[in-house]
Amino acid sequence: MDVVFDNVCFTYNRNIPIANEVLKEVSLKMAKNKINAIVGPTGSGKTTLVELINGLSLPTNGRVMVGDFIVDHNIDKHKINLLRYKVGLVFQFPEEQFFQTTVKQELAFGMQYFHHKIKINERISEVLKMVGLNDSFLDRNPFKLSGGEKRRIAIAAILMFDPEIIILDEPTVGLDNGGRKSLINLIRRLKYFYRKTVIVISHDVDMLYQIADFVHILNKGELIASGSKYEVFNDIELLLENNISIPKVAAFTRKVYDKKGLNLGKYYEINDLIKMVYKHVQ
Ligand code: ADP
Repeated sequence: MDVVFDNVCFTYNRNIPIANEVLKEVSLKMAKNKINAIVGPTGSGKTTLVELINGLSLPTNGRVMVGDFIVDHNIDKHKINLLRYKVGLVFQFPEEQFFQTTVKQELAFGMQYFHHKIKINERISEVLKMVGLNDSFLDRNPFKLSGGEKRRIAIAAILMFDPEIIILDEPTVGLDNGGRKSLINLIRRLKYFYRKTVIVISHDVDMLYQIADFVHILNKGELIASGSKYEVFNDIELLLENNISIPKVAAFTRKVYDKKGLNLGKYYEINDLIKMVYKHVQ
């Protein structure tokens, strides 16, 4: 499902001046079956923006098209409920919401409100596999898993509904290196193997530089730029102006170009770049 924002404005408080709106006339397109990154300083409106995609908040003006759904301030409740199953939203630190004593119960919990007929046990095994785990986790206590495993269980709980779009808010925050790597692989798999449309909010620009297809920059509620990750993340001035960290690979290739006039080519992962440079200096 494509997601299209058409002149969307949003305010939490209708009494404040238009200049202080949380989102200001945002128009953008997030492409289906791609990884779309949203970056911007804290408070720029990223979380608010994604909450409009599953109807958790409704635009004050303008509309959001999510596949065939039109989300505007007139949308009816029934449509919002349908939309919520199509768009899975994984909040920051989702594992903090766990409250069941086994992984199986945690995954089954949300399904009591889901009216489509599915075989719950089979679905649970399926989503565990999707997040790189297996049935040996079924009876484990979710509170006693590693940070990375907890995060993957929380994502699996959202995948139970088989959403077409999955939104991840800061998926790598607080994970150790191993957990972060597994999560990066999981996000890739969601796109390539399970054909999901993925939307990721993150300050982890090195992760985004590896996996994103498109990057959208928000600042003070305005859309500043939207483009391929290569266009956006290699515009160092644009990143600096908007207080966004520069991916390590982009910073290094730019420095080599500025100092030595050498074009190192397109690399998205620092280890690949190091290997290439190493080959040339041996
Ligand atoms: P980001 O995700 O980029 O950090 P948010 O979307 O969380 O930004 O917040 C954008 C702005 O909206 C901030 O100024 C924040 O204080 C404000 N805001 C967020 N949630 C609420 C809320 N529930 N009520 C009022 N203001 C809010």
